[in-house]
Amino acid sequence: MVGSSFRMRRRSMTDTLTPAQRSALMSRIRGVDTKPELAVRRGLHARGYRYRTHLRGLPGRPDVVFTKRRIAVFVHGCFWHRHGCPKTSDPKSRIEYWQTKFESNVERDRRNQEQLVRDGWRVFVAWECEVEKDETLFARLADFLGPPRLPEPA
Ligand SMILES: [Zn+2]
Repeated sequence: MVGSSFRMRRRSMTDTLTPAQRSALMSRIRGVDTKPELAVRRGLHARGYRYRTHLRGLPGRPDVVFTKRRIAVFVHGCFWHRHGCPKTSDPKSRIEYWQTKFESNVERDRRNQEQLVRDGWRVFVAWECEVEKDETLFARLADFLGPPRLPEPA
């Protein structure tokens, strides 16, 4: 009993993650774009949309930003942002650590989105599992965004 709890303690917190979760964490830490983010950007670009990425100065640094439309898109990893779908697994150890971390992630997301809305932005959240499996995602995004080309101001 004692031995196993010692072993547990010595393991680093990332040992409890799947390879996909670990690589998403590393991406976040290094500020590198995640796979679902790139997929959303490629999909939007292929549909004729032009956008900015990771615009500094906006709450939460949205992943894709349409400045003229004032629309911010977040591409959220289901595990880190607690989507509640089957990809939202619970780590089997260091449960309190993760609980606290997840709660602060969700709370930060909420605050950032509320601040954006107060500042006159519209916010769309694309979940990782939707990027992978939901064929309606880009149709819904296009609905939200409007046509790829905005009319020129008169
Ligand atoms: Zn999900």
